[in-house]
Amino acid sequence: MSKWVYVSGEYVLKDEAKVSVFDHGFLYGDGVFEGIRAYGGRVFRLDEHLQRLWESAKAICLEIPLSRGQLKEKILESLRKNELKDAYIRLVVSRGKGDLGLDPGKCPQAELIIITDKISIYPEELYEKGLEVIIASTRRNIPSALNCRIKSLNYLNNILAKIEANREGMPEAIMLSKDGYIAECTGDNIFIVKEGKLVTPPVWVGILSGITRDVVIEIAQKEGISVEENIFTSFALYNSDECFLTGTAAEVIPVTRVDGRTIGKGVAGPLTKRLMERFRQLTQVEGTPI
Ligand code: PMP
Repeated sequence: MSKWVYVSGEYVLKDEAKVSVFDHGFLYGDGVFEGIRAYGGRVFRLDEHLQRLWESAKAICLEIPLSRGQLKEKILESLRKNELKDAYIRLVVSRGKGDLGLDPGKCPQAELIIITDKISIYPEELYEKGLEVIIASTRRNIPSALNCRIKSLNYLNNILAKIEANREGMPEAIMLSKDGYIAECTGDNIFIVKEGKLVTPPVWVGILSGITRDVVIEIAQKEGISVEENIFTSFALYNSDECFLTGTAAEVIPVTRVDGRTIGKGVAGPLTKRLMERFRQLTQVEGTPI
């Protein structure tokens, strides 16, 4: 059972873990975060997640209060303290306490939080049947306003898209870029398969550069499957042979219906299945030991 949360340099009981109401992460969404997974006593792609956290922080001029080595050790320590081997790890770095104004210069000390917990995932049957999703009317952030590569505490437009999905009784929503190209989902990246080739939107279209997305691209290249990072429209998606999502929590999960259109044969396609299997194999053998 997960019991301890690391907040402000110490471990406190889960129910007693608190941050100030003057924290700019709370007041303004001024901060960054990461979601990481541990499988069978090893943390998957830890260095890549830390690299992304540091890049997000740098982009918003936020100093992370620990060194990369120290944070790595604290993450592993948190997992040991909570006796977790298969877990979801949430890192949050916020601007910290300030006054009621926007000025981050009034926040002398960033806040760092490490939450480790059991992972909650989609039911296994959905990995065979696939998800039914919608394309939301809420667009992904315009990169020139807030670059989607920053994994920031501002997820409001993704939450609005999720509300649209919920209203239709669907678990996820696909979001378009400002120009109307397929971008990503509220918490996952997206791939389609057309004539044996994988296509995924390029990062510049305005998406999070997903770690799972990178792993899937790596696996596909090793398997000799052609991968193209290219923009595509909802028309291409509706007419694709297969579609799947990638993310730390969801891993690789098929999508079999979009806006009422059946994708391919309406079940997990052969390429999706192959990549799902290879991905799961990799998570069982790779990672930083706890
Ligand atoms: N896009 C968004 C908007 C996300 O929040 C996430 C989950 N962090 C992803 C994609 C998938 O990224 P990753 O594979 O690194 O979890």
